[in-house]
Amino acid sequence: MNPTDATELKEACCRVGRELAEHGWAPGSSGNISARLNAETFWITPSGKALGTVKPAELCEISILPTRQPEQTSDCRPSSELPMHRVVYENLPDVHAVIHAHLPYTIALSLHDFDFQRVIVPESVLTLGTIGVAPYSLPASEENAVAVSQLMMKHHTIVLPRHGALTFGEQLEQALHRLETLESLAQTIHLALQLGEVQDLPEAECRRLWEHRQKF
Ligand SMILES: [Zn+2]
Repeated sequence: MNPTDATELKEACCRVGRELAEHGWAPGSSGNISARLNAETFWITPSGKALGTVKPAELCEISILPTRQPEQTSDCRPSSELPMHRVVYENLPDVHAVIHAHLPYTIALSLHDFDFQRVIVPESVLTLGTIGVAPYSLPASEENAVAVSQLMMKHHTIVLPRHGALTFGEQLEQALHRLETLESLAQTIHLALQLGEVQDLPEAECRRLWEHRQKF
């Protein structure tokens, strides 16, 4: 990556951080964003800082292989949720961005064991495919990274119950769109449930949707 592209990517990470903060998806110092620099390294937002205030120079450069030393090329303290970002880059070479946020409606539905596999609105299939739901695990733990690793081959959008969500993509914008779609879906379902039962899309319509998705 040439220096101009690298600078733009760092700025884009910070812009996305501000967007998440404005939505209320990164309360306190929660939420984290990472972007791949090359085959061996990625940047991640630092620990203990409000995501909306992170500056490009504050991103931490991290080795994708955890065994490689030095792990960090600066004195930056990376997000404590680094393990689940790293496991994605380590195993999926086409992924260039990972976002984790504390999405209120998504978390609320997870507290009620909502089945995220249900197809209720077409957008969930068209943008998200199937949503992965990890078992609950301690935030920022290796156990959390293992939970993500067991779903990431099939899902690019993963709900972390009682905690938030993780999305990734070939570009930062794609990971962001997936995150936005998930939270919008959760908000819509939450609103609809106030009015009563919510029906799933009929199976025949789901099949048509999947065919439609394959085409595009
Ligand atoms: Zn978190």
